Amino acid sequence: MKCWHCQSDLIWGGDHDFEEDSDGEYDILTNLSCPTCNTYVEVYHKFGEIDRRKKEEQLYGKVVSDDLKE
Ligand SMILES: [Zn+2]
Repeated sequence: MKCWHCQSDLIWGGDHDFEEDSDGEYDILTNLSCPTCNTYVEVYHKFGEIDRRKKEEQLYGKVVSDDLKE
């Protein structure tokens, strides 16, 4: 990912997973910093319906939440 200000490649600082039972709107916070200028970037990611289904298929081989609804 490029720096918004100077187009340098940002350095990945780490991911923070929010607790599943928290009320937070987002699931993952990624920290990035620019090695060239004083820029710090936080990327908030939210698992939508598509991401959740993909994750379940990876974990369980199928979308389990559809079973739970029935
Ligand atoms: Zn920069």
